[in-house]
Amino acid sequence: MARTRRPLIAGNWKMNGLGADALALAKGVADGLGKAAWNDRDLLVCPPATLVMAVAQAVRGSAVLVGGQDCHAKPSGAHTGDIAAEMLRDSGAAFVIVGHSERRTDHGETDAAVRAKAEAAWRAGLVPIVCIGETLAEREAGRTFAVLAGQIKGSVPAGATAAKLVVAYEPVWAIGTGKTPTVAEVANAHAHIRKELGGVTAEAPQVRLLYGGSVKGDNAAELLAAGDVDGALVGGASLKADEFLAIAKAVQRG
Ligand code: PEP
Repeated sequence: MARTRRPLIAGNWKMNGLGADALALAKGVADGLGKAAWNDRDLLVCPPATLVMAVAQAVRGSAVLVGGQDCHAKPSGAHTGDIAAEMLRDSGAAFVIVGHSERRTDHGETDAAVRAKAEAAWRAGLVPIVCIGETLAEREAGRTFAVLAGQIKGSVPAGATAAKLVVAYEPVWAIGTGKTPTVAEVANAHAHIRKELGGVTAEAPQVRLLYGGSVKGDNAAELLAAGDVDGALVGGASLKADEFLAIAKAVQRG
């Protein structure tokens, strides 16, 4: 069956990247995309805030999209060290990751805070990638579906449309660990997420759902072929252009 949702492969560089090496990585992705000439999928890189503008300039003229890794809920003001969604947009970003589990854990971000950030993204003209996912303890307690349902209800703002929202399912225990759920588990979780999204937006069938957690070049094909998976949010493997492009290549055409 033909794909109805355009695949998105997003790289989350996290707190990695200094000047020349980071720009070389961005250019490597842009050059690789140019050579592959894929026009049926989106590639997005999310560098640290310090590099958003330079990376956006480095990939200008290519189809590579640029995103931030977090934003503040407010457009400006006395919030030392924070970055407004408007600043990301002004730097050349089109997307922003919100509610990554590392933000939820390291900075105590609640569903309400994540929701406010997603609304800020909309205010600035960015598409938020809202991250959700269960911890190992929640999974072992059989609470995965309930946790995902609660996070969707709490983190996704009313008024979401398919053009204005991406959701990333990232089991916390799979991030940076080399462990992944089975393909069937990923498909079941994504089907559940899509069903729950139906309570938030009538466009749930068109919203792009990404899987994230230890996606690599050698497991991408099977994970990306799972039902209701429309792409990947990639951490560690997005720090090498070849590996990131191999994941992008694994998306099945049509
Ligand atoms: C992430 O941090 O979003 C992620 C999926 O990391 P990794 O691919 O390294 O597991």
